[in-house]
Amino acid sequence: MLEIRNLSLRYGRHLALDDISVSIAQGETVVILGANGAGKSSLLKAVAGLVKPEGKSVIALEGNSILGTPPHRIPEAGIALVPEGRGVFGDLTVEENLTLGANPKRARATEVERHALIFELFPRLAERRNQMVRTMSGGEQQMVAIGRALMSNPKYLMLDEPSLGLAPIVVTELFSALRKVQQTGVGLLLVEQNVSISLSISDRGYLMEAGRIVGENTAEALKTDAAVQKAFLGGT
Ligand code: ATP
Repeated sequence: MLEIRNLSLRYGRHLALDDISVSIAQGETVVILGANGAGKSSLLKAVAGLVKPEGKSVIALEGNSILGTPPHRIPEAGIALVPEGRGVFGDLTVEENLTLGANPKRARATEVERHALIFELFPRLAERRNQMVRTMSGGEQQMVAIGRALMSNPKYLMLDEPSLGLAPIVVTELFSALRKVQQTGVGLLLVEQNVSISLSISDRGYLMEAGRIVGENTAEALKTDAAVQKAFLGGT
């Protein structure tokens, strides 16, 4: 279980996260829905150790606090982040980017198998394994970013707007790969603006507004929830 409890975060005087509680069980897929600026990226960054929450916040993995763990040690604990904007190394090849992801100790023993798994998930990457990443399409770069995160052998994979700026057909391809990732038992914490596709692969979801959680339900219920319809799905 990855548990976030009473998480608050300030940027100067601005309270970006206000007493957030979110949990994900091993193997579960959870989506955080919210408008721009709601604080979704900040939540993922806090879990990844990239920003420092307020004192009373709790972030725990399998019951052990990971709050205060430096960002480069978070993958070692079993949590990987695919950041918004992907964070891939453009001047390195696909293969080199993947290899960099295998740095945590927990990943080294299974590096060869994981390379094979990622090429199975994304056959396009196998074809282009020696290609420089900056010469690839946005969708392919997103596959590299997800592949690199998976190389760390995570228990939980956090994805910040993976569909952003991609053509619908590429988004469909990415999400069908994410379904296969789910089948390997990895828990997914997803931040998305593409509400319908993200609910289609999620077990549960949370609604975020101005730094607070304002709703939580099963994905099935959220698909027909009036507030979700109104805010995100063009309903009235
Ligand atoms: P988006 O989808 O636009 O990224 P979001 O829901 O992910 O939105 P955050 O990026 O987490 O939201 O931002 C939450 C709030 O905190 C916003 O008001 C934003 O302007 C502010 N904020 C984010 N990063 C910083 C920062 N480094 N310094 C100051 N304020 C910040």
